[in-house]
Amino acid sequence: MSFDYDLFVIGGGSGGVRAARLAASEAGASVGLAEEYRMGGTCVIRGCVPKKLMVFASEFRSAMQDARAYGWEVTTGTFDWPAFRAKLDAELDRLENIYRTNLQKAGVEIFDTRATLADAHTVRLADGTTKTARHILIATGGRPYVPDFPGCEHTITSNEVFQFEALPKRILIVGGGYIACEFACILNGLGVEVTQYYRGAQILRGFDEEARGHIAGAMRDSGIDLRLGTIVQRIEKVEDRLWVKSTDGHDAVYDQVLYATGRTPNSDGLGLAEAGVRLKDNGAVEVDAYSQTSVPSIFAVGDVTDRINLTPVAIREGAAFVETVFKGNPTRPDHTLVPGAVFTQPEFGTVGLTEEEARALGPIEVYATAFRPMQTSFAGREDRVLMKLIVCADTRKVLGCHIVADHAGEMIQLAGIAIKMGATKEAFARTVAVHPTMAEELVTMKAPVRTA
Ligand code: NDP
Repeated sequence: MSFDYDLFVIGGGSGGVRAARLAASEAGASVGLAEEYRMGGTCVIRGCVPKKLMVFASEFRSAMQDARAYGWEVTTGTFDWPAFRAKLDAELDRLENIYRTNLQKAGVEIFDTRATLADAHTVRLADGTTKTARHILIATGGRPYVPDFPGCEHTITSNEVFQFEALPKRILIVGGGYIACEFACILNGLGVEVTQYYRGAQILRGFDEEARGHIAGAMRDSGIDLRLGTIVQRIEKVEDRLWVKSTDGHDAVYDQVLYATGRTPNSDGLGLAEAGVRLKDNGAVEVDAYSQTSVPSIFAVGDVTDRINLTPVAIREGAAFVETVFKGNPTRPDHTLVPGAVFTQPEFGTVGLTEEEARALGPIEVYATAFRPMQTSFAGREDRVLMKLIVCADTRKVLGCHIVADHAGEMIQLAGIAIKMGATKEAFARTVAVHPTMAEELVTMKAPVRTA
């Protein structure tokens, strides 16, 4: 049977673009790709990239305060959001173009339209035309989820933050995960008055508890009104502002209410179930270790599969799919010991097991230190850095590393290599310190603070 393409990819985000490009350029496959919005997906257009640029923008306020403490004569002034947004928009256009050009250079045929599944080997484009392919890759990502409650129509999500015409004066952020915490810090840094509600007892559920407490403390110290165990009951529009009634009796008025309460896989309306592709209860596409769905010709990668929802993981899944299907080299994407960062201020870098997870598995030693780092301490700030290693008492292997510090994302990438290689605590200790740095504490911690 002959097909129009060897591969048709639905979705032009991190996973889909990588798979399409590699299949075409490295395996010589004929590839079509459909994207209904902008090339680059969540990461480039409304996620990691614009978020990180906003992180950079937001850090200058405290950097300028520190500069004054170091003897510079600087005045802080106010942040010009429209000027920043214009630059941000131009940068995203530039990046989108690079993605598009790279796909074209690799020989991928791009369709700027929505595509759905017609059957196991056919996609239907929005204009009704169909394309057949030996393999189809679903890489449609996810979208923000907002719970249903009275007034939920007045809320915004992280998607809309990048489209603000002007920064709000007061914002309520709901949620305690990555996005809520990152935007609370960003907007606080940009001079917005930030209140954050989280329904549970501590933000960043699932991460190391000590680190969670440390970050929550730092966020409060920086001026964020973080309220735990708090749920929004209803929102009403009062003139052009939003009145929020909550369970803690703290009713207040905000300019915007941002919900960052998780993300939902983009699997509806794609014809997946009709084609026989099995979905999980939350709508995620069910895949095996090779990203193959219940229909053998259809694979899925990235957030639509709801495994580890991070860009670099989606990219690895896309690359492993190409190895498996187009290069005769069955490859499972490795979802173990994935380092990650939450871009709060201070940043949080983490890899491996939390203290709580490790303790449940066997005897451990915990090495931890919290200290005022040289740079900000000199400037008179009280900020404290947290460095923590979880060590298996039997094998001596470092099972987890958790860092709360400026540039923790950079540090954890490197610590992640050692931990992925199975480094022991003694290997860390044999490594000579780089002095004076914050990270040197990782190799100089002598005695465990606790064993369990
Ligand atoms: P998360 O799953 O990280 O957090 C969702 C938060 O919303 C949790 O605190 C959750 O509470 C809370 N929540 C869920 N439902 C409700 C509800 N009905 N009412 C009130 N609160 C609710 O999702 P995010 O949206 O923050 O991020 C999505 C994913 O995107 C992340 O998991 C991550 O994979 C990825 N991401 C990664 C980033 C990075 O690498 N730096 C940055 C941004 C996103 P509870 O804990 O109680 O369930």
